Amino acid sequence: MSAKISSTKTKTDTLILLFFRITLKKTMKFAVDCMLGKLAKWLKILGFDTVFFSRIEDDELLELTVREGRILLTRDTGFMEKAARRNAHTLFVESEEWPDQVRQVLSSFNLREKCRPYSRCIPCNASLKDLSREKARNLVSPFVFKKGKSFALCPICGRIFWKGTHHEDMEKKLDKLLNQVDQDG
Ligand SMILES: [Zn+2]
Repeated sequence: MSAKISSTKTKTDTLILLFFRITLKKTMKFAVDCMLGKLAKWLKILGFDTVFFSRIEDDELLELTVREGRILLTRDTGFMEKAARRNAHTLFVESEEWPDQVRQVLSSFNLREKCRPYSRCIPCNASLKDLSREKARNLVSPFVFKKGKSFALCPICGRIFWKGTHHEDMEKKLDKLLNQVDQDG
């Protein structure tokens, strides 16, 4: 009997541990204040689940932040105080420059290793699904098919993304963001 209890307990412990692992993994979701559009965009480019609305009431954004277990990113001290009263997770964004803002978020939550550039659809904030070349062939123009090295599909809007030469400028910016940590972006 006691052996049974202890085995159940171990199972429960394992489940709890698993739950926390999954929760922790999923916790890095952000809600970004209206004023920080570029920060929101770049967090999505880096692959992080990020909600952003160019116009939304503070209370509404706060509600969503708490409900979805997100971390609120803002430069508004009043909003920070409001969020604290709701026990929301927050980060006060220090810089006015978006590259420094991104770097602050990455280092505050130790996310540098967790960046997955181009894995998310920017307008939909959805994780992209890999699309085989074979499937992509019928869905993109012959030019894109020829240029694209790999393809991905947004499950929400159906847009197809491909890695090709047009990424070069973005690659440079990403490299600067991720590798030149202490220099100005
Ligand atoms: Zn989409």
